[in-house]
Amino acid sequence: MLTVIPIPAFEDNYIWLLRNERHAAVVDPGDAGPVLDYLARENLALTAILNTHHHGDHTGGNAELLAAYPVPVYGQQRPALTSVSIAIAEGNRVALPELGLSFDVLGFPGHTSDHVGFYGHGMLFCGDTLFSCGCGKLFEGTPAQMTASMQKILALPDDTLLYSAHEYTLENIGFAKRVEPDNEALLQWEQEALGLREKGLPTLPTSLSQEKRTNPFLRFSEPGLIDAVSRHAGRPLSDPVAVFAATRAWRDQY
Ligand SMILES: [Zn+2]
Repeated sequence: MLTVIPIPAFEDNYIWLLRNERHAAVVDPGDAGPVLDYLARENLALTAILNTHHHGDHTGGNAELLAAYPVPVYGQQRPALTSVSIAIAEGNRVALPELGLSFDVLGFPGHTSDHVGFYGHGMLFCGDTLFSCGCGKLFEGTPAQMTASMQKILALPDDTLLYSAHEYTLENIGFAKRVEPDNEALLQWEQEALGLREKGLPTLPTSLSQEKRTNPFLRFSEPGLIDAVSRHAGRPLSDPVAVFAATRAWRDQY
């Protein structure tokens, strides 16, 4: 049976590990140590590494894992990232036969220019593109690119589970409440998330339906959010890219 395990790393990263009784694949192993420990403890063989983007807290463990398990690494080929063996882009498919899984590669430019997500079996591994109630900073892409990436996520089925790479939920809810203080779904999610964190549990994966109700970066077509962001920006905004960009700028100053 397939299970998906969050392996905490660094301050607030999750390395997502997909496993059955004998095999495992990891998404964004920024640190090899906790992955190697888990594989040894559970007596699993690693079969693949998937990277959503090139940042070190997502790829830093590649080399050490490869030394123990010479497996394919799916990701973006950049000069500084020599551990990637299979370059991927939107439209490609990643097959993990030992786990009986295959994922479509979706292009999510914005946080980085070549960020991708892995979508399949009702799951989206979205790296630093989307967090619960937040989204990644625009280090390389434009607001228009990131808005298009958000629209790609919005087009997925509502019950899609979103496996983000960081536990930023409560911090993001703080900002989301500033934007939409009367959003009942947001206040309810805050209580649930507080309960989970008090027990030391992750707030992820989240679901797309939940994020549609609570995540300001997916709500650029909601009249209430548009009003709030327009007031904060001091000018009327309407088109999705302008609303998204102003929301992101507000968050960056928050
Ligand atoms: Zn990143």
